[in-house]
Amino acid sequence: MKDQYQRTIDYIRISVTDRCNFRCRYCMPEEGVESICHTEIMTYEEILRLVRLAAGLGIKKVKITGGEPLVRRGVCGLIGEISRMPGIESVTITTNGALLEQYLTELVQAGVTGINISLDTLNRERFRYITRRDDYDKVQAGLKQAVATGIPTKINCVPMRGFNEDELADIAALAKHDPVAVRFIEMMPIGMGVEKAGIYQDEIRKGLESRYGTMLPIEEMLGNGPAKYYQIPGFQGKIGFISAISHEFCEGCNRVRLTADGILKPCLNYESHINLKQEMRNGIDDWELEKILKDAIYAKPRCHSFGDQTKKEIQEKRKMAGIGG
Ligand code: SAM
Ligand code: SF4
Repeated sequence: MKDQYQRTIDYIRISVTDRCNFRCRYCMPEEGVESICHTEIMTYEEILRLVRLAAGLGIKKVKITGGEPLVRRGVCGLIGEISRMPGIESVTITTNGALLEQYLTELVQAGVTGINISLDTLNRERFRYITRRDDYDKVQAGLKQAVATGIPTKINCVPMRGFNEDELADIAALAKHDPVAVRFIEMMPIGMGVEKAGIYQDEIRKGLESRYGTMLPIEEMLGNGPAKYYQIPGFQGKIGFISAISHEFCEGCNRVRLTADGILKPCLNYESHINLKQEMRNGIDDWELEKILKDAIYAKPRCHSFGDQTKKEIQEKRKMAGIGG
């Protein structure tokens, strides 16, 4: 369906858990976040009910995220159910990759249409530093296997000043011999990201071009949304930028989000009080639930206001792991 600014909203990102087996420094504190009580997390039945209604309103693409989605038991079953739902054209997952080898076959059987793996460094020590875990080999193995299955695979990297700025060209080179998309995501001032210095798209692109030559922009839209893609001649895969800060893409935004505890977020930036889980537990019928969904999608804010101090009161205070990125 279209929102009040005539944007087509056809994509929902669903966080299935706020828990994670990593502790990335820009996302979670070392001791972890105070986890949402199990009873407050949406059940799979509740998620499926919402996806069915959302599909009726024109949502065609679903992303399963977290926290770490693969730590929630039965997530492949959920993906299977969603992928069979009328109206749903793609179900993808975003994962840190540590459990990917273990679940890849199940994910493929469930009908997953794409896998995004987060990887901020190719250096084992740095990996241990940033994630506070020693799972570099597992992530690499998961990535390798995902590529081998032929499933469309993307690598998400958050460039950080003083951390991985010297290896961005090497990370981009993962797209040289394999048909993967390597995407650089600008650090967003959400949760612990507020304290971290990211690196903007233009600087990264300049660095890549000085190593690989001119990058050719790809005009057609690939994937679910805001990434702007480039081709480096001779590379099998593509390079993407998701630059919420330096190249705001709100005008073409096509998504809404559902947090693990059932809050519908029309925009990543703003706090939301649309508690769909509570509505369902209070016994709302499908007709009324669909109306809440529809009204919220229609009223989606025009754009984010990251960094605008005057809007601090209404901005999101949750950590990224509870929202799903
Ligand atoms: N655990 C999974 C993972 O790491 O892919 C899924 C959830 S994670 C919150 C989704 C994505 O959000 C990851 O690629 C992560 O790097 C990114 N992310 C987390 N905090 C961020 C921030 N402040 N700014 C930009 N991206 C962030
Ligand atoms: Fe976990 Fe993903 Fe956050 Fe890292 S970015 S702590 S893997 S949710």
